[in-house]
Amino acid sequence: MWIADRVARIRPSGVRRIFDLARTVKDPVDLSLGEPDFDVPEPVKEEAIRSIRSGFNKYTPSGGVAELRQKIMEYLRAKGVVCEDVIITPGVTGGLLLAFMVTLNPGDEVIIPDPYFVLYEYQVLLLGGKPVFFDTYPDFKLREGNLRAAVSPKTKVILINSPNNPTGAVYSGAELEIVAAVAREKNLLVFSDDIYDRFVFNGAPGYFGRLYENTLTFGGFSKDWGMTGWRIGFVAGPREIIDSMVTMQQYVFSAVNSVGQKAALFALDYDTGGLIEGYRQKRDLIYEGIRDKYRVVKPEGAYYIFPEAPGGDGDAFVERALKSKLFIIPGSVFSLKKSHVRISFAAGLPAIEKGIEILRDLA
Ligand code: PLP
Repeated sequence: MWIADRVARIRPSGVRRIFDLARTVKDPVDLSLGEPDFDVPEPVKEEAIRSIRSGFNKYTPSGGVAELRQKIMEYLRAKGVVCEDVIITPGVTGGLLLAFMVTLNPGDEVIIPDPYFVLYEYQVLLLGGKPVFFDTYPDFKLREGNLRAAVSPKTKVILINSPNNPTGAVYSGAELEIVAAVAREKNLLVFSDDIYDRFVFNGAPGYFGRLYENTLTFGGFSKDWGMTGWRIGFVAGPREIIDSMVTMQQYVFSAVNSVGQKAALFALDYDTGGLIEGYRQKRDLIYEGIRDKYRVVKPEGAYYIFPEAPGGDGDAFVERALKSKLFIIPGSVFSLKKSHVRISFAAGLPAIEKGIEILRDLA
């Protein structure tokens, strides 16, 4: 009786049940994780410790530390991303929430390619919006016909995520152009979640924000610098929207933690390319290790591979894998379909090798 109606619109992440199941398995081979397996680089930690000791421990401005906002804007502009302003947010998670809060009216629709990162769906629902999914199976490419079929008079936002969680897809220039053309024609906002921007294995990432001015570009420090627990992200885009998000942040989060922002400022000059390079080898290892036994698309980015489960039932397959001590995530967590499974290669080589062995046995 105490709980508000909006809570009925969300439910615990489907991952939780699997985590509970996995907890019953002793020493599982864990290929479920959504965070890099490298630690925050030592110099970044040192910078945070230094800023605590120097007394940088009070509230910061709601939009974030000015120097960090400026530096991120330069970082993005150097990549060709069009943006007038930047806000620092509690991760991309907090950035997305603020962005939806300031742009969605009840009933507004947000178009999301399926499969998708699970948070998008529930944040939209929480705010009374309607997620509208369009299919990208079997190769996880954006097709113009499918995108256009999802557009309605209620559409406000197209949300894309490249490199993609859970598929590892990186959208081509042509795919991004399709999104830009439809958005321009229908006068829509585009939210581009670029959090895996440095995890690309073939060429440079194609930041969508280069193509279309009515874009919010989301990024952060969770993946590129392994700082998932520090909760530092940013959103860049048109000044009017960023201004509204800053005002909203005053009442929702107040501001982001001071020390993390200092560490982030330092991190921007600290190249984690060497740490990320190892992920290409891991990608090759797992792709080559299972491709003759599974229907699978080679991931071009992030650190996930998304094969079809034998028999086409990812939920059942995940339970079978757990019996063999392999912990992976059912595709149904990220999709209207349940045919696939998400395997993370953000793990050590021995775990990946063991995982491949188990997957081959189960195929
Ligand atoms: N966006 C995507 C696609 C993700 O995979 C994740 C984390 O797994 C997030 C956003 C959340 O990022 P943050 O830690 O910055 O809130």
